[in-house]
Amino acid sequence: MFDALSSRFAKTFGNLRAKGKISSSDIDSVIEEITSALLEADVAKEVVDLFTERIRTQAIALLPTLQAGSNQAQAIFDVVNSELVKILGSESRRIRFSKNPPTVLMLAGLQGAGKTTLAAKLAKFYKDQGNTPVLVAADLQRPNAVTQLQVLGEQIGVPVFAPEQGNGSGNAVQVARDGIAFARSKVHNMVIVDTAGRLGVDDQLMGEAIAIRDEIKPHEILFVIDAMIGQSAIATARAFEQGVGFDGLVLTKLDGDARGGAALSITEIIKRPIMFVSTGEKIGDFDHFYPDRMASRILGLGDVATLAEKAKKALNPETSAKLEEKFARGDDFTLEDFLEQLEAMANMGSMGKLLSMLPGAASMKKQIENFDENEIVRTKAIVQSMTPHERREVKVLNGSRRARIARGSGRSVSEVNSLVERFSAAQKTMKQMRNGSLPAGMPGGLGQMPISKTPVAHKKKSKSGNPAKRAAEERG
Ligand code: GDP
Repeated sequence: MFDALSSRFAKTFGNLRAKGKISSSDIDSVIEEITSALLEADVAKEVVDLFTERIRTQAIALLPTLQAGSNQAQAIFDVVNSELVKILGSESRRIRFSKNPPTVLMLAGLQGAGKTTLAAKLAKFYKDQGNTPVLVAADLQRPNAVTQLQVLGEQIGVPVFAPEQGNGSGNAVQVARDGIAFARSKVHNMVIVDTAGRLGVDDQLMGEAIAIRDEIKPHEILFVIDAMIGQSAIATARAFEQGVGFDGLVLTKLDGDARGGAALSITEIIKRPIMFVSTGEKIGDFDHFYPDRMASRILGLGDVATLAEKAKKALNPETSAKLEEKFARGDDFTLEDFLEQLEAMANMGSMGKLLSMLPGAASMKKQIENFDENEIVRTKAIVQSMTPHERREVKVLNGSRRARIARGSGRSVSEVNSLVERFSAAQKTMKQMRNGSLPAGMPGGLGQMPISKTPVAHKKKSKSGNPAKRAAEERG
């Protein structure tokens, strides 16, 4: 969502880094560039003014302390980063659980914002943490909203309280009230109430949301807003804040390619924290909102923290421990281990999304978009067509075995050859790394095994006549 903005920031700071000594006019031009980038990204004018003024004041104060030759651009970059985190809300706020369960969450927002989808995402998220949520289908307006929630509930194994079929009929206040009573009677510790939206803010919509709020007295009201709707997000958020009121925001559809300015403006203007973000249609495309990680992404530093968390979740701890032990013993990394890692990668979700969390991802947008998600599936098919012996001993893979594997996996022999070649190269690299340079807790492999069809660099013969350079090439 913030690709254009990230690229602009990267360019601005690239220019600044190229300066010998930064002057006040350099600061002016940085501010000018940031202003135009933010306005272009649809960030509200008042937020842009506030943000750039804070940066200007701090950068000008810093100037006399900056020495030529020191990392001056970095000092200015740090100011921008910390101000960006502030604009995004500084703290990442969590749901406050009630001392008297069940904790009641009520969702509010326009139709199509993603409330029903979010209800299920929240339920799964908290269920995975050991809670016992129940979903309440109180959106009786949008066609199929009730059925959609039932289907999602079944999918994630969370009960759905849905006494009315909705589609324009039934009493939403009563459903919400009975839903809380149901949760209490079945000792659920959490209730998530989905409510109806309309296409635009209207009195009927707000009246119903207020009536539900007054009846069930939720512990948290979450306002759900589609980040793709641009500037009108602010007006909508204001209307909900003045109408039903809310404790925190959830930004949905951050995976879209809208300009995203609303996401940057909303906390500063509405004075409510963004609590969660939704980044896709799948149940797992959801997380807490972290202002610092978002700022990092916008500034092109990637979101390595989230990436690491995803990897940790996806890797089976037993498999990782087994690999680590093997590695410590000096055993070879085999295609069987590789297959387990491929499976873990597939569990981490879309590779495109993972790659976009890497530093500098904005400048690799095209490559990331062109990443072929099916590469993992094809690679898995090839490995799965090998016998256990072949997976442990790639050396035995002669021509006829490779032809059989190609037939079995429905791939070509050259694809099998390419995989075996890349794997052998990765295996060799890992052997070299074993001599002490591998960080603890990281079995390697995942990053070592190139998935792309790019030829492996170290297979190239060195052309340098300079021994130091040649040694460096060989190391590389
Ligand atoms: P509601 O009317 O507020 O309940 O909205 P829904 O939950 O039905 O969502 C509307 C549409 O947006 C559905 O097609 C969802 O699959 C989709 N959706 C929800 N959240 C996201 C998201 O984060 N990213 C994308 N791309 N689509 C989303």
